[in-house]
Amino acid sequence: MLPIPGLAEAGALTNETLFDLREDVPHLIVIGSGPIGSEMAQAFRRLGSEVSVVDIAPRILPREDADLAEVVHRRMVDEGVRFHFEASIAKVEGRRGDLRMTLKGKDGAERVIGATHVLVAAGRKANVEGLGLDAAGVALDHGRIVADDRLRTTNPRIYVVGDVAGGYQFTHVAEHHAGIVLRQAIFKLFWTKPSTVVPWCTYTDPELARVGPSEDEARKQGIAHRIYRFAFDEIDRARAEGETDGFTKLVTDPKGRILGAAIVGPHAGELIAEVVLAVSKGMKAGDISASIHTYPTLASINRRVADQRQKEGLTPSSKGWIKRVFGLQGR
Ligand SMILES: Cc1cc2nc3c(=O)[nH]c(=O)nc-3n(C[C@H](O)[C@H](O)[C@H](O)COP(=O)(O)OP(=O)(O)OC[C@H]3O[C@@H](n4cnc5c(N)ncnc54)[C@H](O)[C@@H]3O)c2cc1C
Repeated sequence: MLPIPGLAEAGALTNETLFDLREDVPHLIVIGSGPIGSEMAQAFRRLGSEVSVVDIAPRILPREDADLAEVVHRRMVDEGVRFHFEASIAKVEGRRGDLRMTLKGKDGAERVIGATHVLVAAGRKANVEGLGLDAAGVALDHGRIVADDRLRTTNPRIYVVGDVAGGYQFTHVAEHHAGIVLRQAIFKLFWTKPSTVVPWCTYTDPELARVGPSEDEARKQGIAHRIYRFAFDEIDRARAEGETDGFTKLVTDPKGRILGAAIVGPHAGELIAEVVLAVSKGMKAGDISASIHTYPTLASINRRVADQRQKEGLTPSSKGWIKRVFGLQGR
């Protein structure tokens, strides 16, 4: 529970209590517009609730590039979700059923919003207290269990897996961790370094999936990179399904090696899998470009975006030569 005056007393919901609700939710305030907050806000809006999202950040999904997050934000606004960005919460008054939340803007101005329920979708932390880790010789560092890349803690007979390992908090990461630990227990001698390429997806509609560095991260970390985009409204399957919102963004190094990708659009969580393999195996955009993709599929967007890289690779003289051979007009 976030340390906000009146929040706990108001019967605030968390991910642990939300799914046991048996009552109507006429107006829900969601604290946090990260993946969980955004997913739940859209879900409740679609179930018929009024939904207001409050976040101290200036926009939703702050870990994702702004242009991708904006596609999801726009859809949620169109569906009637209201947003209060750059707002801190001064206090909550009342009880579940009749609540008031006082927000403080960046300029210090206060305003009060009313609701029936409030959901805390921020501040989840690993539960490492009260386990007697000290007595077991398992060291903590700032609330994180210290472990090596084999997930061995400072007590070599104790491993750590899942969210409590302190890395990415996803079910598929917990599953991956379980595999690492089992392999060590059973095949101690045949240790191979596990993959560190971790994809994820936010299951809003449209979905937003990612693997590798975002454009923003590549720039901030000084990684030499190139960006290629392709929109779903140019993909025949997306047009046939009437789901043309969104685009894909491919991040490569200057030689075309794929560093990562982000996809916002229909079934993005499925489509990212091809790029996960490409990143894991150090493939180039040309490898995806050269692979035949079935028509008409959403997955062909992966080839079409990789083709952007291949087209860019053409020199002006080779472009001129192609135009001359085929009698093409234009630029
Ligand atoms: C709302 C929500 C949506 C999510 N959606 C996705 C998603 O779409 N995809 C995805 O990959 N990930 C998602 N996640 C993250 C995912 O749930 C976690 O990464 C995953 O469950 C981690 O597994 P775990 O076993 O490490 O921890 P958990 O699943 O949290 O299991 C830990 C268990 O330990 C128990 N426990 C805690 N403390 C103690 C104690 N002291 N003694 C005994 N037992 C204890 C807990 O009660 C719990 O049962 C979501 C998380 C939330 C909250």
